[in-house]
Amino acid sequence: MHVLILGGTTEARVLAGLLDPSVRVTSSLAGRVAAPRLPAGEVRIGGFGGPAGLAAWLREHAVDAVIDATHPFAERISFNAAEAAATAHVPLLALRRPGWVPVDGDDWRSVTSLAEAARALDGLGERVFLTTGRMGLAAFADRPEWFLVRSVDAPDAPMPARAEVLLDRGPFTLDGERALIRKHRVDVLVTKDSGGAATAPKLRAAREAGLPVVVVRRPPVPEGVPVATTPEEAAAWALRAPAPDTA
Ligand code: NAP
Repeated sequence: MHVLILGGTTEARVLAGLLDPSVRVTSSLAGRVAAPRLPAGEVRIGGFGGPAGLAAWLREHAVDAVIDATHPFAERISFNAAEAAATAHVPLLALRRPGWVPVDGDDWRSVTSLAEAARALDGLGERVFLTTGRMGLAAFADRPEWFLVRSVDAPDAPMPARAEVLLDRGPFTLDGERALIRKHRVDVLVTKDSGGAATAPKLRAAREAGLPVVVVRRPPVPEGVPVATTPEEAAAWALRAPAPDTA
């Protein structure tokens, strides 16, 4: 039994730990992060060369099941996985942590892209805490506001003209997020709906400070791909080794 985990998330690492060593596990990372936290089992790094390359890899390495445990916003690899799994007749499951849900006191503005998030900043204040990651910041390049840009690795150019970069990786604490908002006199938070506990404290800190939050909604999971919401559920699916046509 050989399971390929498309990774790059905390959940993917937990899942690899749950499956290894009962089955052969290979985790695949895109190679975007300079010093990634490595999961248990085998690890390969770098793209496959589109859906055809991934399908070939599945065949060559006799993969019995694929779990797409990539970040909810890693849209292309998820669609590639759906196409490749269908071509290679390998069952596929998507592991997606649940999205965040607003509670009383939250002032959230939902948008569907970074470009829309940039436009949504009109009238929300001068100082923006931008936590959408290091890629795609070109969408904010022409904005007049000042930005605190937090990301794991240095962001790609182009960036907002007036910005301070804070290199940091979660989990983040509520006290830490409160302090950042105070120190930088933040007026508005911008986030993807990444879900999970590691980066959720910023939402509570924003609520407490009465800040509006621009939330980029998730792209859909490819049609027909079953979804698990926890590593445990995904591990149970893999160990059942479903046939491709029932996956
Ligand atoms: P993406 O746009 O969906 O994928 C772009 C290309 O990167 C894919 O076509 C594929 O190249 C390669 N790729 C992506 N994930 C891969 C993986 N796990 N293993 C091997 N190749 C992979 O992805 P992205 O948004 O750039 O994210 C890249 C990685 O960072 C993902 O694995 C994701 O889990 C992680 N991540 C993303 C975000 C985010 O906000 N997007 C946040 C945290 C972590 P080929 O076509 O050549 O196979």
